[in-house]
Amino acid sequence: MAREIPKAYEPQEIERRWAQVWFDEELYRADARGQGEMFSIVLPPPNVTGSIHIGHMLEHTQIDILVRWRRMSGFKTLWLPGMDHAGIATQVVVERELTKEGLKREQMGREEFERRVWQWKAESGGRIKKQMIRLGVSCDWTRERFTLDPPLYRAVMEAFLRLYREGLIYRGRYMVNWCPRCQTALSDLETVHEQREGKLWFIRYPIAGSNEMITVATTRPETMLGDTAVAVHPEDERYRNLIGKMAVLPLTNRQIPVIADESVDREFGTGAVKVTPAHDPNDFAMGQRHKLAEIDVMTPDGHMSAAAGAYAGMGRFAAREKIVEDLKAQGLLERVTNHAMSVGICDRCKTIIEPRLSVQWFCKMKPLAAPGIQAVQDSLLSVVPENQKKIFLDWLTNIRDWCISRQLWWGHRIPIWHCGDCGAMTPARDSRVEVANGRAQIASVPEKCAKCGSGKLTQDPDVLDTWFSSGLWPLSTLGWPDETEDLRTFYPTSLLISGYDILFFWDARMVMMGLHLAPGATIEERIPFRELYLHAIVRDPHGMKMSKTRGNVVDPLEIIEKYGTDALRFALTVMAAPGTDIALSEEHILSYRAFANKIWNAARFLFFNLEKIEAAGVTLEELAAPEIRAKAPYATRDGLPHQWIFSRLAAVTEQINDALESFRFHEAAHVIYHFFWGDFCDWYIEWLKPNLASQNREDAIATWRNLFAAFEYALRLLHPFMPFLTEELWHKLPQTAGAKSISLQGFPVSHGSWVNPDAERSVTVLQELIIAARNIRAELKVDNKKKVGAELASKEADVRGLVEANLDVILRLGTLSALKVTSGKLEAGDGVVRSTSQFDLRIQFGEAADPKAETAKLKKEKERLEKDVASKQQRLADDTFRSRAPAEIVRGLEATLAERRIEYQKIVERLAQLE
Ligand SMILES: [Zn+2]
Ligand SMILES: [Zn+2]
Repeated sequence: MAREIPKAYEPQEIERRWAQVWFDEELYRADARGQGEMFSIVLPPPNVTGSIHIGHMLEHTQIDILVRWRRMSGFKTLWLPGMDHAGIATQVVVERELTKEGLKREQMGREEFERRVWQWKAESGGRIKKQMIRLGVSCDWTRERFTLDPPLYRAVMEAFLRLYREGLIYRGRYMVNWCPRCQTALSDLETVHEQREGKLWFIRYPIAGSNEMITVATTRPETMLGDTAVAVHPEDERYRNLIGKMAVLPLTNRQIPVIADESVDREFGTGAVKVTPAHDPNDFAMGQRHKLAEIDVMTPDGHMSAAAGAYAGMGRFAAREKIVEDLKAQGLLERVTNHAMSVGICDRCKTIIEPRLSVQWFCKMKPLAAPGIQAVQDSLLSVVPENQKKIFLDWLTNIRDWCISRQLWWGHRIPIWHCGDCGAMTPARDSRVEVANGRAQIASVPEKCAKCGSGKLTQDPDVLDTWFSSGLWPLSTLGWPDETEDLRTFYPTSLLISGYDILFFWDARMVMMGLHLAPGATIEERIPFRELYLHAIVRDPHGMKMSKTRGNVVDPLEIIEKYGTDALRFALTVMAAPGTDIALSEEHILSYRAFANKIWNAARFLFFNLEKIEAAGVTLEELAAPEIRAKAPYATRDGLPHQWIFSRLAAVTEQINDALESFRFHEAAHVIYHFFWGDFCDWYIEWLKPNLASQNREDAIATWRNLFAAFEYALRLLHPFMPFLTEELWHKLPQTAGAKSISLQGFPVSHGSWVNPDAERSVTVLQELIIAARNIRAELKVDNKKKVGAELASKEADVRGLVEANLDVILRLGTLSALKVTSGKLEAGDGVVRSTSQFDLRIQFGEAADPKAETAKLKKEKERLEKDVASKQQRLADDTFRSRAPAEIVRGLEATLAERRIEYQKIVERLAQLE
């Protein structure tokens, strides 16, 4: 029978099964011609080298919640997935593999190397896709894209050629961040800066034809071999007499001029600086102003070049040591001081980058940033959370040109040809792409030099920065530059969800590229997404960033094997309050696994009891035909719990829809959690238990109808948050026979007719009463099953009436033997009293617990607490302990002490009551 539910909730089996069904049946295929308002979103394409990490898990969960919610709410929904070729990251991985085989890419040649990367991609790339399918993300896999696929290759070529023709892409010899390990230029964003302890060397340069010296300070002495001047500030009195003279560059005996430049900082070092135009960006600019020679003393792999004379062939750091030694020997090293400085590191391989003068391709950013600034200022693009808006605007306003060329082989090769005769550049004729050897390349290769007509053309060897193609992602995945049906229907996308760590790398570039390249006359038409939601970062339980070196990385796939995807999703969602990072611990996940279990057991209980009413000849169709939902709540003898649960459903539905509308995922999850666990399982089902197999057939049928309708409705509310559990249980319901998936049902909208403030108020009073009884029992340690007598006093007639009308349920859920109701004050007597504004309740524990034994027990407990409090106080008063223990231990101890004091106070009060 379909509705049989196994005893144990086994998420692994359920999740694997449904994930496969959703994928195989192409359940989330978008229909461009479908009905309804449009909702579209692109997946931030993970690297093809990647594996799901906890950050992806958070991101995919948030997107999936919104997508499932919108789809169920009747939107024509597209979630477009895909992967990024991740130029430098992938090339580094494959190079590492080759090294193991003793191979170098230079020996293999470009074509063979590319073949190896594709082979590697076919084998181990796409692991992340399998993982995503297993996680059940509801994207449209039929529209999956890869940045090197022919249509996307063409989009990249088209974008490059357009920007080139418009003069926004140019080639030039400039200072770039250079990684000597990867042997490529890097953008500013790919260079991370670390604060490190370095040294400042003070070196004496003799002034030619005199005994004078000028001392310069440098953090990189090896670059002095490329010095072409010494510079001082024009108003620096100390050096005025030296301006215009020649200095003799130590170790080379080359003569270089002493020049005056206003950019020199008089406070740094000695106020005189060496000028090395080929190895420092500021010196490069100064060299341009003073027409200085550029002497490159290093090779691309970080060794000293032939221009370094005697030091040629040495590694850059070995050369540094040797040069310092030689200067010392010649008496030219004045002194060395320690110097904290910021060092640029290659984000990919962690090698110290070298500023290097080289010919690269650049994209002019100011003209592209201007419309983006306008879009944000005019709120045509909204940024959530609000504090990121200013950061975004500041970056766009101060943007610098972007170095887009990389000296790599894996990526989109620049469609420009250089002439062997005249050196002119000829672009590809158009952006057409052909497939050769299974991969895309530009088809419209020029035959003749555009300037001199020569046939000696060679294609530029560089590829584009991987973020150039990611920057086109919303356009290229929807078919641009063709005006496809998908582009017309789903562009601009509704929303982008990404981590704030890639705001500049990716989000900003999509905004600029989209605004410049998309068809359409207005910003509204061209903007790639209308809303940008930046999610938090997942940290470890102590709030530390997860990292392999710290060993605190949580592998989501391991967690899922242990607790299930739904539990992890829910934990991440509940904790994702906007603007705060998430401190994730296994206990959190465990508690949401318990939540899933609670719902599972509630369902099992229902189906177990269903047999009883079926035995009385009631058919499932009578209880739960699909159309029955619309007529709930059905009238029953005891109407209150039903009026109340449907009123609660109306309220939580509104809260959840509101919260999701403004990305308050945590709030939506809290609401559904408390509804399901508290209202539905702990109160509603408990309340109804005796009525489920009622002797009154009509009443039992109405009760069951309400129960099924409410349960089905609540499962739909929960579905975006826990898709697997809800799908599994939903199919067990009698009213869903033949339906394909809960994810294709309507998302609940609030029914005004269900709202019933009177029922909610009444049930709140009853709950307060039952909870008060339970609390007193727990405090007195009354045996769980032992019924005790109670007395209630209330001046309000309607409260007394309510209590009398619901005496059965109060006695049952409060485990009371009797409840005496009076209108005045409670008479003096034994027992413990709890009061609210509406009633006073006394539990008569005399018959259940012995006051003398209780008093003795409490006194013992009081003694124990006194000792405990004293010892903790002493510990916290100890300065040595305070200064040595980690702050969190101290805080924890303080918190426990505060709790013990409250417990102590309660015991004192309880003893007073007893005596
Ligand atoms: Zn590197
Ligand atoms: Zn030519």
